[in-house]
Amino acid sequence: MKPRHPLFQLATWKRLAANRIPGQVVIQYTDRCNAACAQCGMRRTSTFERSSMDMQQARMLIDAVAERGVQSISFTGGEPLLHLDEIALLMEHAGRAGIPFVRTGTNGFIFRGHESPGWEDKIKRMAERFAATPLNTFWISVDSADAEVHEKNRGFSGIVAGMEKALPIFHEAGIYPAANLGINRLTGGDGPHRLPSYTGPATDDPNTSAAAWAFYAAARTAFRRFYRMVHDLGFTMANACYPMSFEDEGDAVYAATSEDDFISFRPAEKALLFRALYETIPEFRGELRIFSPRSSLRALVRSYATGEPQGYPCRGGVDFFFVDCKDMNTYPCGYRGSENLGKFWDLDLGALPAPDCRRCDWECFRDPSEMLGPVMQALRNPLALARSIRRDTEAFKVWAVDAAYYRACGFFDGRKPPQYERMARFAKTDSLAEPIQT
Ligand code: SF4
Ligand code: SF4
Repeated sequence: MKPRHPLFQLATWKRLAANRIPGQVVIQYTDRCNAACAQCGMRRTSTFERSSMDMQQARMLIDAVAERGVQSISFTGGEPLLHLDEIALLMEHAGRAGIPFVRTGTNGFIFRGHESPGWEDKIKRMAERFAATPLNTFWISVDSADAEVHEKNRGFSGIVAGMEKALPIFHEAGIYPAANLGINRLTGGDGPHRLPSYTGPATDDPNTSAAAWAFYAAARTAFRRFYRMVHDLGFTMANACYPMSFEDEGDAVYAATSEDDFISFRPAEKALLFRALYETIPEFRGELRIFSPRSSLRALVRSYATGEPQGYPCRGGVDFFFVDCKDMNTYPCGYRGSENLGKFWDLDLGALPAPDCRRCDWECFRDPSEMLGPVMQALRNPLALARSIRRDTEAFKVWAVDAAYYRACGFFDGRKPPQYERMARFAKTDSLAEPIQT
């Protein structure tokens, strides 16, 4: 049986009142990968010694995660579905251990060969196998609104047509996959849709110069093209991974980073890029369940525009962790590779430091940190929250709309169809790009 949603568990509220989030562990089951992605050091042509976890140890890890009250685990890679049977067994184990949120995903190689005999039966078997597990979110990577660009980057042909054929089969089995965009310069396509470079000063107001406007407008078009494309393919849910290019990349234990121009954006570009995503999301909230919270994006826009940290610090290393497939050691996240916390089953979560890291924009950790920040503040220090709201009322309003939208999306339960009538009231048409008010 699927464990109850954490929001309906007393333990969750006790944890929040104690300034702790229900928690999340990203388990890198393998660093083996069959894709060719420019944005990632684990691409098939990279030469390093590959590893995958031992099943028995992975079960021990899941038990330790559950015993510590962590409520969400993600099985990532590499490509997790190179180990499909093991991942399915581990998801079942996680459900039995009482972990309510279980996620995994794919680079899409499973959609190759959609015209071959037996392909539909294969996808049906896979969907039914997953439906028998407590899988909550199943993400499928999509890098671009242009199918050819996506397939070229991944190194797989025909997979977008395969996705379109496979989605109804997954829906029939009761699984609603999420399109997972890793934001890049080709998000909207190549040629005229490629994002230009912006080398001007940092600003969150695209009206300040023609160059700022050109970059911002291109990013708006790219995100619109992307959301339209995944909606038309049959996706009901979408997420955006913020570009993972940052200064201390050498530290990363999780090699899903790159300095390739495809994914590298200067800080001044990021202010406008995140602004474009922030403005585009409401246009599609009525037709897609879009996980990316605008409150988180707003904080990123302001941080990159002003150079001053905004919003809530990341909970990586406090409530969120990354476990590496090579030696099963735990890290605060995949990027603070010099902070080896040892085996998860030896960790004392009570002895960890307060959150203060803002070194990167990893949305897996940043977005939930931002969404739960005001809740924890309300439970622990309502006066401090009142002061923050007075200081930046607009930020709180954006957060409140995000929270209401999350509810309308059934908290992104990928086992349920979207409720379009509830989502419709969050749909907004185009808005003018005026400076974000604080
Ligand atoms: S981004 Fe994912 S699919 Fe692409 S090379 Fe890296 S691990 Fe493989
Ligand atoms: S901000 Fe980035 S580097 Fe810091 S803990 Fe979070 S994910 Fe890790």
